[in-house]
Parts: sequence; C-alpha cells; structure tokens
Amino acid sequence: MVLDTYGRSSGFCIDPIEKKPLFHFHPGSRVLSFGTAGCNLGCRFCQNWEISKARYDGSLHTRASPEDIAASASSRQCRSVAFTYNDPVIFAEYAIDTARACREVGIDTIAVTAGYIAPEAREDFFAVMSATNIDLKAFNDEFYRKWCLARLAPVLETLEFVARETDAWLEVTTLLIPGVNDSDREIAEQSAWMVEHLGEQTPLHLTAFHPDYKMREASPTPASVLHRAREVAISSGLRNVYTGNIRDPRGSSTYCSHCDALLIERRGYSVTASGVSKWRCVDCGAKVPGVFA
Ligand code: SF4
Repeated sequence: MVLDTYGRSSGFCIDPIEKKPLFHFHPGSRVLSFGTAGCNLGCRFCQNWEISKARYDGSLHTRASPEDIAASASSRQCRSVAFTYNDPVIFAEYAIDTARACREVGIDTIAVTAGYIAPEAREDFFAVMSATNIDLKAFNDEFYRKWCLARLAPVLETLEFVARETDAWLEVTTLLIPGVNDSDREIAEQSAWMVEHLGEQTPLHLTAFHPDYKMREASPTPASVLHRAREVAISSGLRNVYTGNIRDPRGSSTYCSHCDALLIERRGYSVTASGVSKWRCVDCGAKVPGVFA
C-alpha cells in the first residue's frame, strides 16, 4: 500500500542549511527543501500549521518523483535535500525512496522531524538520512500530552537511537515558550540528559516562539529568555548551544570548545568560517565536531 501523498509536494524551496537549522553539517551550503501535508502530532503552537493541518487535496500541488527531486537538487547546486515543513515520518516511503535516489547522484538528505516514530520504522527511515534535526519540544511528558497530543518517551528513544545506532549527523531543536517550557530546571535537566545520552558536542538550538495557531494568546519569547537558557545549557555541559529566530551573532556563532576561539561567525544566514582550517580550530588545532566537505 502506498500513501496518496507519495510523489506529491506542498512546495519546494532552496534554503541555506542554517535555516533547517543545521550548523555543523556542511555550513554555508544550499539545500532543496520540501514537504507534503499533515502531521502525526497536534502541537497547539505549530509554526507551520498551514501545511501540517492542511488537507491533502487542497495543498499538494506539485508532482515530483524521487528521481526528479534528486536531479533538481543536483542541477541547482544544492548539496542536500531536506524533508521538512511537515513531519517526514508521515511520508516515510516517499522520503526513503527520495533519499535513495539522492544517494545515487551524490546528494545528502536531511530529516527535520519531531522524532515521533515507532521502533519498527525508525531503522529504515534513519538508515538513509545523512543528517537530522530532531525537535525535543520540552523535557516533560505533561507538556507533550497537553500541548502536542503525544508523549516524551518515544522521542527520547529516537534521539538515543540516532546517536548510537546510525551514521546520521544529529542536531536538536527546542522551541522555548515563555512560562510553559523555559524554566532553568527543565533546561538544565534536558541538557544533562543530552550530555549523558547523546554526547556533549551534540548541538542544541534554542529558538524563539511567536504566537500562532492555537496559542495566539501567549507572548513571543524575549531574547533575554533565550540568552539565559543558552547559559543554563552551557553550564549543564553542552558545548554547542545556539539561539534561533532572533538576531544574536554571539548566540548563533560557533566557538572552539577547547580554547573558545571564534570558529564560524553567523550573521543572519551569512556564514564566515575564518577560524577553521581543515575542520580544526586555527588557534589550538582542536577538531570541530560535525560533517564538512
Ligand atoms: S510536529 Fe511540527 S509540524 Fe507537526 S504539529 Fe508539531 S510543530 Fe507542527
């Protein structure tokens, strides 16, 4: 049986890879992004709800085979194809076939996902991904139940699975909603869990919420909340912690975890990697974690 979304997309776009966000996977490269429609979670704060809550018939305008997508990425000088906008686990067959077609022509593939996928499907799905950014929406099960109509434990299992059992490069994103999932205690617990189960070098992106979908009454995340959360995560042992959805050159740049030299400077989506040579810090020679050409 094949889903009727197979081979149909709600749209394509060429993005900088920093927009996924991935900061340690071919920085500065171009990525062809696409998604379908629908989602297996019901996040009340969804920032992409026009797509994730869309009905298939009204939103899947573009027909594209896996081979067409791979060829299109290649001809447009995109290093990767990203499955994004809605969650690719709900179009896993299409994503997997596209990832295989991309590999045939030397194009990497990226899953931007909430990681809410059954163990039986996890292995096949992540086996063909070169990189993934997985949302860890909060570090408490009550949040997942109340705000996402889901559970925390399967997401933690997916994160551990990807870190331990696959070759996919892993980064994590947490959207911080003021007064809902941004307490120092929760961020410290999440960061300590990531250090222990995923490794201290795993990048964490702490991003700003804006009122949307069914959470229009909540306040947008102030920059001060993201700055504080970043400090908490770093104090808890994570080495690569970034702020997102705000202008913050310090919080969006990469520093050497050995000597603190500036390695990769980011201003918006402009990237300068003058502190890096052959993916080592030019000051102290420490290896920069990630996947680089
Ligand atoms: S998992 Fe992502 S796309 Fe799906 S409802 Fe939640 S925020 Fe929206």
